[in-house]
Amino acid sequence: MTRALVLVEMRGGAVTAGSLGAVAVAASASDDVHVLVVAGEGEVVDGDTVALLGGQGASEVHVARSAPAVARVRTDLLDLLVTRLEPSIVIVESSSMASDVAAALAARRFAGVNWDLVGLELDATGAWVGTRLAVQDTLVARVGWTTPLAVAVLRPGAFAPRESTETAARESALELPDVDLSIVPMVTTVADEQMPSGIETAEIIVSGGRGVATREGFEVLEELAATLGGALAVSMPVVDKGWYSHSFQVGQTGRTVRPRLYIACGISGAIQHRVGMARSGTIVVVNSDPRAPLFGVCDFGVVGDLSVVVPRLTALLRERR
Ligand SMILES: Cc1cc2nc3c(=O)[nH]c(=O)nc-3n(C[C@H](O)[C@H](O)[C@H](O)COP(=O)(O)OP(=O)(O)OC[C@H]3O[C@@H](n4cnc5c(N)ncnc54)[C@H](O)[C@@H]3O)c2cc1C
Repeated sequence: MTRALVLVEMRGGAVTAGSLGAVAVAASASDDVHVLVVAGEGEVVDGDTVALLGGQGASEVHVARSAPAVARVRTDLLDLLVTRLEPSIVIVESSSMASDVAAALAARRFAGVNWDLVGLELDATGAWVGTRLAVQDTLVARVGWTTPLAVAVLRPGAFAPRESTETAARESALELPDVDLSIVPMVTTVADEQMPSGIETAEIIVSGGRGVATREGFEVLEELAATLGGALAVSMPVVDKGWYSHSFQVGQTGRTVRPRLYIACGISGAIQHRVGMARSGTIVVVNSDPRAPLFGVCDFGVVGDLSVVVPRLTALLRERR
């Protein structure tokens, strides 16, 4: 039985691209994909949302509205659907909320969890098989489940939405579970909220690394990104310096991106960075060291000082426009 159940998350009132990717990968293996959408107060899930999910291959969309943003409510709803639908797999894209929910559901259901998956399919026997990168992303490991219910946590950004089809999905409303929120342990407190970088969905990314020696040095990269209508991203040392939040980081412990154009400035090309951007369309590298490993994977390379090359590139682009 290959029925799949996918938890779809909403952010800023819209279904996240990662959730659409999760539905798409489920539908690439199974033609019986159920989706749970949990909308918060004021978030609208209408016919367009259902059609969007149908276009990614969902056959039925279960909607719970005005739900409080706690993992317990999502876990109860998924648990209910697991009883009703008896799926062989529950799929979520990793986020702090979804990972909490996946762990809680797995504990309740004695289900095995495989996390950080970058691939998911059915093998010839009809068993789910995931792909994980191991040993600092240098090895590809195939992983399976021995429990009747499989829980799969996908690496953020690893699955892109597919080209939408006209397939219609059924919608069914779900009652919210009767959870006494006063007894739900609220072990998480929000200390700070930062705007997400948006790099997972950006078509064009200008990325800066340790070679951008100062915080001010990023101004020329931000200008180039703005000129191209793209987003700014960074390598890990830049996040370590505290110049940008972790949501801007590309790589093994950051985001996986696949823009049409990735311009890497002052980034050497360590494997932990490359795994996060190697599937970009066109890769351009600006680096003062001709031996920088990232030149080995680029389509176009400029050997030079980024503080000179980047402003000239921006000026040229503006001129052409
Ligand atoms: C478990 C683990 C997880 C990790 N996860 C990640 C991750 O998610 N993302 C990530 O990025 N890294 C990650 N790293 C770190 C990774 O190994 C590298 O250390 C890091 O990617 C290097 O960043 P960088 O290329 O910006 O810096 P560097 O390697 O120091 O490279 C800087 C580059 O800038 C060039 N340069 C210097 N000045 C200029 C100039 N004026 N103009 C042009 N070029 C210049 C230099 O020639 C050099 O190539 C991880 C490491 C580990 C061990």
